Amino acid sequence: MYPTKRLNSTDKVIITAALTGAVTTKHDNPALPTQPKEIADAAIRCWEAGAAVVHIHVRDDDDSASMRFDKFEETVNLIRQSKCPVILNLTSSGGQGFSWEERIRPFKELKPELASFDAGTMNWLNSVVFMNEPKFLELCGTEMIAAGVKPEIEIFDIGMLNTAKYYIKKGILQEPAHFQLCLGAPGGMEATAENLLFLVNHLPENCTWGAFGIGRGSNEIALAALALGGNVRVGLEDNVYYNAGQKAESNEQFVARIKRVAAEFGRRAATSDEAREILGLKK
Ligand code: ZN
Repeated sequence: MYPTKRLNSTDKVIITAALTGAVTTKHDNPALPTQPKEIADAAIRCWEAGAAVVHIHVRDDDDSASMRFDKFEETVNLIRQSKCPVILNLTSSGGQGFSWEERIRPFKELKPELASFDAGTMNWLNSVVFMNEPKFLELCGTEMIAAGVKPEIEIFDIGMLNTAKYYIKKGILQEPAHFQLCLGAPGGMEATAENLLFLVNHLPENCTWGAFGIGRGSNEIALAALALGGNVRVGLEDNVYYNAGQKAESNEQFVARIKRVAAEFGRRAATSDEAREILGLKK
């Protein structure tokens, strides 16, 4: 068995709140924040509840998935103007079918500390192709380095992890890399503790990592990630149920639970500044 902690702090856990995503709707859960003011308010409440990072998507006026730059700009400005020190992680996918320019512009111009980097193409939810072709990944990685934005490398299956290692070798991704292990998306690996352990054991030694499970696998992955010394992502992007049959009241309800559970096992929720240190982000 390999050691599984990698570079993660052993006594702190970075909690990321994935507030909105591209798939879930207010019909699935009315608490889903979809417009800039709602998303910014949710980000601040999640930070108050213990999240060090917020992962942000935006929606169009009709709440459909979007990469509209003005929506990102308004959301980011509202959070920054509030003086909330939460670390911003902007999506670089935002849904399906967006142009390379639409996907890159938000992190390039707004310069969050983190942005998602999806390390490969996959069949998404048995419906469409989630395109992340090699030339896009090369451009995306290069633009992140140029903008001083750290990639959060999203891994949906083991092939993506191999792809990420290739780009690390090529210098498109820099070490120490930060990984988000995304389990339970139809088309990717299932949300099981076994799959999480398998991925963790194949991560590069010199990295940090977090994990989340989608839908009903979310609790299993959150608890397994905590046990392995990993960081945890929760939120309405990934799961609209707090427990089976019980819809979540808010994003911060998930954050508060992970903070409580982690504390019971001697792991404190990292502040945003502590997370900056663990992730090697420039202040
Ligand atoms: Zn996302």
